[in-house]
Amino acid sequence: MITVKDLKFGYAGGGFRLSVPEFKLDSRERLAIVGPSGSGKTTLLNLVAGILTPKSGDIDVDGTKVSDLSDAERRRFRATHMGFVFQDFALLDYLPARQNILYPYRITPALKLDSAARDRAQALADACGIGDKMDRHPSALSQGEQQRVAICRALVTQPKLILSDEATGNLDPDSKARILDLLFEQAAEAGAAVLAVTHDHELLPRFERVLDFAQFREGAAA
Ligand code: ADP
Ligand code: MG
Repeated sequence: MITVKDLKFGYAGGGFRLSVPEFKLDSRERLAIVGPSGSGKTTLLNLVAGILTPKSGDIDVDGTKVSDLSDAERRRFRATHMGFVFQDFALLDYLPARQNILYPYRITPALKLDSAARDRAQALADACGIGDKMDRHPSALSQGEQQRVAICRALVTQPKLILSDEATGNLDPDSKARILDLLFEQAAEAGAAVLAVTHDHELLPRFERVLDFAQFREGAAA
């Protein structure tokens, strides 16, 4: 699902540099990424999603070289192949929860907003326990509820790759387990792979593989 080779990245203005000689994620695999704050976990997810572009190296997702696509192609590829749960949720406050969940359909003509998609949005929200709050705007939702909206948005398109950045961070322990169940259940149903950054060590046994990110910081001991 993901193959990264000889990836190098640095933010404009210097400072942090990321170097990933090799990284692979299989179809349907569930991989957790752990590592200290500031080690580049979010940066890697953004590179895989094509939100950031590498300085050098290849990023291949589901047979497509993301790093070679134009900006418009990358946006479309992301919307049709990936679901991304952002660390800061990235919800739009001028839209109610329902429209935030269905947002990928609003911005991607290749995705058809039909009744099946609307039903899926409602079913996901019900499963997350926010089914009765679909008309509320994000500012009228708690952090945990906003997080669930972000998770529903990432799953509603049934992507083959789910990228999740601390998706369970703002939830209580019971909700964490329930949300991870939902994420895995949806992934299994869609045959999707899951790449999840997490600080919740109690959740790690649920993943097939755990990758410690400290090793990828440029200059880190191999
Ligand atoms: P993590 O998710 O592992 O906590 P990040 O990928 O968010 O780490 O950040 C890695 C490093 O890059 C940090 O030192 C952070 O300060 C820096 N960084 C993140 N975003 C930017 C940016 N837009 N411009 C410059 N530096 C950034
Ligand atoms: Mg981060």
